[in-house]
Amino acid sequence: VVVNLVRVVGLLSLSSTGNAVLGTNPLEAPVPGHDGQVLDVQEVFPTIQGEGPFAGRPATFIRLAGCHLACVFCDTDFLTKRHGATLQDLTLRALDYHNRLVVLTGGEPMRQNVVPLCEELADHGMTVQIETAGSFWPIGVHDERLGILCSQRHVHIVVSPKTGYVRAPIRAYATAWKYIITLDPVGTDGLPTYGTQAPVRAGQHVARPPKQVKPEDIYLQPCDTGNADLNKVIIERCVALCRQHGYRLSLQQHKLLGLP
Ligand code: SF4
Repeated sequence: VVVNLVRVVGLLSLSSTGNAVLGTNPLEAPVPGHDGQVLDVQEVFPTIQGEGPFAGRPATFIRLAGCHLACVFCDTDFLTKRHGATLQDLTLRALDYHNRLVVLTGGEPMRQNVVPLCEELADHGMTVQIETAGSFWPIGVHDERLGILCSQRHVHIVVSPKTGYVRAPIRAYATAWKYIITLDPVGTDGLPTYGTQAPVRAGQHVARPPKQVKPEDIYLQPCDTGNADLNKVIIERCVALCRQHGYRLSLQQHKLLGLP
């Protein structure tokens, strides 16, 4: 009951921000047979990467539209400004911002074929970080091409599991695993056991990293509920879990700085 109450309080607070999706979005399937030449995009903007392994680096964010999941704590708008953008448009915009790091995020960026865009950005000397829930990996020729980009460290995959399933290539190539911490239950490993999708089910398994992943490559990120008191409690819990298990604390520095 306490957990559910906290969840409701948190969600009510979040909804006051006006642009959080909070699990109300339609579930959108992967785009079949996508050649990656025109992408469904929400927005492109320069900022400082605020979280995960590239925190602190100036970065250009390309936020792709739509998601196949609907997480109850989702604080992102990936719906309202969606538009088609060509590979050339996106590359030129990234070049205009002069950031060596480009973050492909969403929504779920891997719903679409982002491999041609990654290749184009890499050809121009940029490093690409893909933020994904880990549900999709390209098929056919793009499967191998994305693997090469990851092996050559032109592309870094940061996986943030929201369900019990992460695709095998993503398990193999991910350089960081990121978990959103709320006041919901965690397992003996300190990672969430509570489902992220509405209706939320207690005990729903959230995918774990492979055994060989080092604790310092696992990031715990406090959920931003929009309620300062609740956030403080969640951050303290996150700090305690990091200290107990050796995980890395990931704060959303861009929000502390008032950046997008
Ligand atoms: S996977 Fe990410 S973008 Fe999609 S609903 Fe969940 S938190 Fe939001």
